[in-house]
Amino acid sequence: MPKEPEARKAGANHGQQDNSDEAQIRSRLKRIKRQVLVLSGKGGVGKSTVAANLAVSLVLAGKRVGLLDIDIHGPSIPKILNLEARKVRSEGSEIMPIEVMPNFKVMSIGFLLPSRDDAVIWRGPMKYQMIKQFIKDVQWGDLDFLIVDSPPGTGDEPLSVIQLLGKADGAVIVTTPQEVALADVRKGISFCRSLGLPVLGVLENMSGFVCPKCGERTDIFKSGGGEEMACRMEVPFLGMIPIDAEVVRACDLGIPIVRSGENQSKTAKAFGPATRALLDLDENC
Ligand code: ADP
Repeated sequence: MPKEPEARKAGANHGQQDNSDEAQIRSRLKRIKRQVLVLSGKGGVGKSTVAANLAVSLVLAGKRVGLLDIDIHGPSIPKILNLEARKVRSEGSEIMPIEVMPNFKVMSIGFLLPSRDDAVIWRGPMKYQMIKQFIKDVQWGDLDFLIVDSPPGTGDEPLSVIQLLGKADGAVIVTTPQEVALADVRKGISFCRSLGLPVLGVLENMSGFVCPKCGERTDIFKSGGGEEMACRMEVPFLGMIPIDAEVVRACDLGIPIVRSGENQSKTAKAFGPATRALLDLDENC
């Protein structure tokens, strides 16, 4: 056991380290105008797909965007953006994000894992440290938006990132129309409210299936549940994205649907209201 003065010195060093980390985080965040989290109550609802498509939509609207994937247990951004073979490099104490295209920088825990099949078994404090490093040490530069793809639920990771960002601008909550996902989303809204994080709106994904052959729409799950729930919980509704094989194909190719093809499909256009809600944040500076 360290003697009393040594223990006090170690404590003081820790305190100094925390203060210097805090100062570095603040100076990084000063250069990022808007910070938005993409959350979902449960996995598999298309949260990462939405995060990637919103990020690309903002780039297409002329914004400088960073996309941070902290979905430790299932980082899918490298796959969605076809970046799986890419490695991040560091310069001094800084980690360089991957520049996918001009004005679009991406950082994902997936870049740091030796193999996509590796399981990540980390306890809360380790996750906190990793998320802290992604904000403190990644050279984001000047950004209009940092979009954070958070793991599903209301656990350590969203809590850590909300605390570290300090004053994020808000959260987009992704859900599917089924009741179970909606119950989870209500929890997500309460979680944001209890942390003082504004809910920018609810986006209903996988809402109805439009047949690519005949164009007929079938509501495989119940449709419109997200809108009803958003209305009841008094948060904005950001629209419905249909189940579309093109979304999967685009993801497999690593090209989000919002930028695949000159003429945007109906599905790509369905990201419009959510993109608009984020752009409004920037315009209301
Ligand atoms: P999450 O981040 O919520 O776990 P993902 O974004 O990884 O979910 O999506 C899960 C799967 O669903 C992926 O294979 C993705 O291509 C697919 N997907 C997401 N949204 C749609 C959609 N609107 N239509 C069809 N497939 C979709």
